[in-house]
Amino acid sequence: MREPRIYLDHSATTPLHSEVLDAMMPYLTDQFGNPGSLHQEGRKARKAIERAREEVAAFINAEPREIIFTGSGTEANNLIVRQPLRTEEDSGQVICSAFEHHSVLGAIQGPLPKRPSTEWFLPVSSEGMINRDAVTSALEKKPALISIMLANNEIGTIQPIASIAQECRSRGVWIHSDAVQAAGKIRINVKELQVDALTLSAHKIHGPKGIAVCYVRHSVPIHSLIQGGAQESRRRAGTENVAGIVGFAHACKIAQTVTSDEWARIEQLRNRLESSLLSLIPHSWVNGAGCPRLPHITNIAFKGLEGERIMMALDAVGISVGTGSACSSGSLDPSHVLLAMGQPHSQAHAAIRISLSHMSTEQEINAVVEKMPPLIARLRRE
Ligand code: PLP
Repeated sequence: MREPRIYLDHSATTPLHSEVLDAMMPYLTDQFGNPGSLHQEGRKARKAIERAREEVAAFINAEPREIIFTGSGTEANNLIVRQPLRTEEDSGQVICSAFEHHSVLGAIQGPLPKRPSTEWFLPVSSEGMINRDAVTSALEKKPALISIMLANNEIGTIQPIASIAQECRSRGVWIHSDAVQAAGKIRINVKELQVDALTLSAHKIHGPKGIAVCYVRHSVPIHSLIQGGAQESRRRAGTENVAGIVGFAHACKIAQTVTSDEWARIEQLRNRLESSLLSLIPHSWVNGAGCPRLPHITNIAFKGLEGERIMMALDAVGISVGTGSACSSGSLDPSHVLLAMGQPHSQAHAAIRISLSHMSTEQEINAVVEKMPPLIARLRRE
């Protein structure tokens, strides 16, 4: 019998939880109404959305009116980051870290009336933490918005958002945080973080793909990027993805039932995986190891090899891992995150990302520890 595959790329996406699918099914079948319709079918769909809005809001301690459903985390990031850049007249400065997800970097670099200069991308340390002094001097220039991710998607380092937000508050600068990777792994409370906007995406927490949330503090005005409909209180036009929204809310509820003990178990497994690989494989290192990190990600590099080659060799023996972000894997560009951390191209090419979920098992980690050392030795010989 063939061995089951081992999926360790949960930062790219997670499998849909069976209970999430159960919750969605009615809205993919007989509860098909358009939430914009006033008849009974429409009213039922509207009710489902508003209940889901309350549940997602509770997940991050927001108010339901502060939740905007979007079609992806990428769209939610664009919605916020492009606000101050929309027109020539009101084009305020937007600042972010140099290792944001491409959906933030791309939204700032995109075809905009005002183009950013390089100092808009704040430096990060070789360990993978935002440079706090650079944040302070950037805020002195009174930008319209700063966007710093809560946790990095390639190396998992957790950024000091609450302290940056406090500084933003005292200077009247809006702050957005991309919490797509952090959600479900660490507790997110928008009141404690004091952010004005925050992004979540359902498919990273065992929800469906194609549905995400932009939290926007109620006092912050938002203009829809997409025109032609009054949905989401005129902040996101287009008929709502009712089943996706219901599924997202259910995924949030399930994420809240995963205990901190469960995540401590995953962190221990991740740590054991790292120490075993580092001791068994010469010339290997972990990126971001010395910093506060999400419990489920390791970014581990092997001198002289390219991450993509390792990923394909692991794939051939039944193990799925990632290299950098899913959106850029498939291309041979070195990781922009590792480059931002000051690594030369050869090093920035050499890493893979292994990401667990709360469902990952000790047997899976044992299999990786057993298979990887000979595989790396073989690749180095070839
Ligand atoms: N932000 C981060 C940190 C991510 O890791 C991702 C996906 O990899 C996104 C945003 C984009 O989310 P989505 O896949 O829903 O567009």
